[in-house]
Order: sequence, then C-alpha cells, then structure tokens
Amino acid sequence: MRIGVDLGGHKIAAGVVEKGKVVNRAWEPTPRSRTPEETTEAVERLVNSLKVKSTGSVGIGLPGMLSLDRRSVVRLTNLPRWENFPMAEILEKKLSLPVTLDNDGNCAALGEMESGEAVGMKNFVMMTLGTGIGGAIVSGGRLIRGHRGLAGEIGHVALLHSAPCNCGGMGHGETLFSADTFDLRCSGKGVPSVPELWDRRNDEEHRDFWNRSLEGLACVIISAIHLLDPEAIVLAGGLSNLRGLVRELQPFLEERLAIAFRPMPPLKISSLGKDGPVIGAASLTSTP
Ligand SMILES: [Zn+2]
Repeated sequence: MRIGVDLGGHKIAAGVVEKGKVVNRAWEPTPRSRTPEETTEAVERLVNSLKVKSTGSVGIGLPGMLSLDRRSVVRLTNLPRWENFPMAEILEKKLSLPVTLDNDGNCAALGEMESGEAVGMKNFVMMTLGTGIGGAIVSGGRLIRGHRGLAGEIGHVALLHSAPCNCGGMGHGETLFSADTFDLRCSGKGVPSVPELWDRRNDEEHRDFWNRSLEGLACVIISAIHLLDPEAIVLAGGLSNLRGLVRELQPFLEERLAIAFRPMPPLKISSLGKDGPVIGAASLTSTP
C-alpha cells in the first residue's frame, strides 16, 4: 500500500495511491503554529486514518529544501523553525512504515510522469504556480537533484530587478508571478480575488502590472527551455488555471525564444490537479 502526502502551508492532503490514481483520501488544515512537531503529528493522524494494512510505504512532499538523503528538512521557505528537522526518522518510529521525503515540485513531476501530462516523457520541466513557483527537472527520465539536492528551484531564476524574494535573495522570477504578489495587488486595489484581477488584465489600471508579471514568467520559462531543451513544460498549481494564461504568455515567449529552439515546446496544464503531488509522493520509495 503506497500512501502519498502533500504538505503545504495551508493544507495537508494524503491519499492511498493505486495504479496512478488516488483511491482513498484524507486532509486537514496545516496546524496554525506550522511547527514541525504539530505538523508531523497531523501527518501521522492522516496516515493512520488511511492505513488499512500494516505493510507499505509513505512518501511526503514538502515545500522547501531537503537533505540529499531525503531524510531531513534543511529549510522550508514559508514554514519557520523546520531547520534540520529529521522528519523521516521521527515518522518511521511512529508509523512503523518506511518514510521518504522530497520537494513538492519533484513530487508533482513524478505524479505527472506516472499518470499525468508527462507519461512517457524523458525530458520535461515541471512548474507549479502557486504561493511561489515550485519546480522540478526531469532529464533522461530521471529527476535532476544537483550537488546538494537543491536543483530545480526554477522560481528563483534571477532576473534584472531587485524585489526581495522569500528565499532571502532578490530579483527572482517568483516575486513577479506568485499568489502572494497577486494577493497584495488585490488588497491594494480593492479587487476581491486573483481570478478577477486576471479578468481585468486589459484595464488600463492593471495592464502594465500584468504585462510585467507575464514577462517575468516568460523569462523563467524561456531560461528553462534554453538550459534544458525539454520536450514540454508542464504547469500545475492554482495559478496555472487562470483562463487563457498560455495564450497570453505566447507573445512574451516567442520574442525571447532562440531560433534553434523553435517551434516552442508545448506548455501543458496538469490534468491531475491537486492529486499530482500526492501521486508523486506515493511513488517516492521506488524513485532514485
Ligand atoms: Zn528566491
């Protein structure tokens, strides 16, 4: 029995995965404190609520950076005090099941490879457009992990501006295109929601803002294409569902794409939605 867990800043989703589909699911809000202790207890509760067999494995996707052996958290961008927290070891003792951790962007990519938009692909880039821009790189059929296990942080591609990023650096792609940035714009302009702000993108008041946001996202995507030569870019996360996003991005992408890379690799929107990272997390124990 394979259980996948997607741990986010607001919600923890868990599911039993069979043949690339979530067949039984449970969720609860992330504890308000977001501390590693209370959050790990919540994960334990969820897994126990699904665990009908004593054998199997648990994979957990987390929003941040993990140790290369995927046993401990190094740092979670939006959850404080998780530094060097040995989550896998703690949960294995409590659950009596093997536990593997990974970055949530990597889990999303594994989910798409198992039963989503990237089935049969060996070279693609995953981008999750949400609170920040998460990501993962699959090259030659394998996740690229890098020297310290931190590869694939595509939202932190550096652009030519100086806005501070939640990661501690500045000028990164996700400061221009993220739910946090758009929420801030909504509250400053009295717009009730991000989809409504998007629907008003051609209003004079919002046109420059959206052009800059789309340009930022296009720069990140084009950089990934030129670096990695993928067969597709797979987009997931709440903001990937903004109606007409891919169409609006096209002019910003086309003018930046090198001639040798044309035609532009397709941008595919995930069909798995929120199940993608859960499906990918469940496959972790069998992933090199
Ligand atoms: Zn950053």
